[in-house]
Amino acid sequence: MSAPKLVQGYEVVIGFETHAQLSTKSKIFSRASVAFGAEPNTQACAVDMALPGTLPVMNIGAVERAIEFGLGVNAHIAERSIFARKNYFYPDLPKGYQISQFEIPVVQGGEVSFFLEVGKETVHKTVRLERAHLEEDAGKSLHEDFIGQSGIDLNRAGTPLLEIVTQPDMRSSEEAVAYAKELHKIVTWIGICDGNMQEGSFRCDANVSVRKPGAPLGTRREIKNLNSFKFMQQAIDYEVRWQIDQIEDGHAIEQATVLFDPDTGETRAMRTKEDAADYRYFPDPDLPPLVIGRDWVERVKSEMAELPRVMAERFVKDYALPEYDATQLTQSKATAAYFEATAKACGQAKLASNWIMGEVSRRLNASEMAIEQAPVSAAQLAALIGRISDNTISNNAARQVFEGLWNQEGEVDAIIESKGLKQMNDTGELEKIIDDVLAANPKNVEEFKAGNAKALNGLVGPIMKASKGKANPAQVNALLMKKLG
Ligand code: ADP
Ligand code: MG
Repeated sequence: MSAPKLVQGYEVVIGFETHAQLSTKSKIFSRASVAFGAEPNTQACAVDMALPGTLPVMNIGAVERAIEFGLGVNAHIAERSIFARKNYFYPDLPKGYQISQFEIPVVQGGEVSFFLEVGKETVHKTVRLERAHLEEDAGKSLHEDFIGQSGIDLNRAGTPLLEIVTQPDMRSSEEAVAYAKELHKIVTWIGICDGNMQEGSFRCDANVSVRKPGAPLGTRREIKNLNSFKFMQQAIDYEVRWQIDQIEDGHAIEQATVLFDPDTGETRAMRTKEDAADYRYFPDPDLPPLVIGRDWVERVKSEMAELPRVMAERFVKDYALPEYDATQLTQSKATAAYFEATAKACGQAKLASNWIMGEVSRRLNASEMAIEQAPVSAAQLAALIGRISDNTISNNAARQVFEGLWNQEGEVDAIIESKGLKQMNDTGELEKIIDDVLAANPKNVEEFKAGNAKALNGLVGPIMKASKGKANPAQVNALLMKKLG
């Protein structure tokens, strides 16, 4: 692996804490709905409002999703984990504590690996996970400026979250964003989280520090609640520059929690960081230990869909694809399905991969479409690839056919016909053209025979032109060589 990228002589160190909202119908310890966008407090039951005498009851669906996640990242699923009370005061937390997991989380270890582009290189990176634990979300304070009052909405209180914590393994904002995208892919692929970042279903806290290469870890500041990949990159880049400036000016970095303001592009300290001790964590006496038997894990495993990295390995093995292609093609289930359908129908996996990662994704990006909306079906792309490999059309012509398919001008053969793109495969016709061109350009012929290889270009050009671009370049070459001895 290449040496870490330095910023003004400093190495950047980043660790992530991500809150993924689990896709259950009801809350983690109550039966209230978690549907987004309801009127304030219409989805808060007695448990969520912390009325005296109520007791939490574990939602089995949330546990099952945590198990699925653990399996998805090759982690250890704890046979026995503990819920703890994290005590703090905030108006949107009527209990005075959040139920979370502290010393013994349900998911332990694991890793997330991905590819990223560094300059012209493709680098493989693995980020180790420390843990993932179950916890409840808090409510929300609504500041109604127009009446000069604040209200509390407890609809979100008790929403199930999986907090996924990495080791401080990332070394640049690019790596951090690539990690976040990969994690987002994993949770949405296995279906434990809808991944909606605008609605807060997937939010990241980036812990950032800098150090001179080889020095011990620097003091980190934690950028809270990054809910877009774009802001994530901007926030980390700003934070890194800010910390380096501080250190260069002789100031020490103080551990703090900061917020990113997308309007100014700056991070701002919200509070100096509290330590675990400030929360007075202790085991929640209202909840028994969470016990997960091996049989439960085995059942979940047997019911899970093929994971992206497993599918990528299969693509490498079954379709002889490079690892990079396989990873790109498993960015979403829909992309993978599109590839498999194309590859199976045309029998040319590498060509299918090239077209999907090239022309198809270029057109999708340009029109901001998902592959599910692509106007060219897998069957049509396969038919197009078939016409390239049976020499009916050249690569160049194929791009025009693709354009026609994209604009819904008809099927592959009809487009080839109507645009007159068929390659000239009749040797007789081609030989006649070649003979004419050779006769008309005796100087080039002479020069080529005298050893000037470049003189060939002066012949190929006119031949292609005379064939109206329909001659097969490989065939032209072969015939020319034969005729020129
Ligand atoms: P807390 O839960 O109090 O925020 P943790 O020790 O669990 O603290 O760390 C949270 C995150 O911060 C982890 O992702 C970890 O990898 C990361 N982290 C820890 N130390 C550093 C550091 N010096 N620089 C950057 N990230 C760090
Ligand atoms: Mg933290």
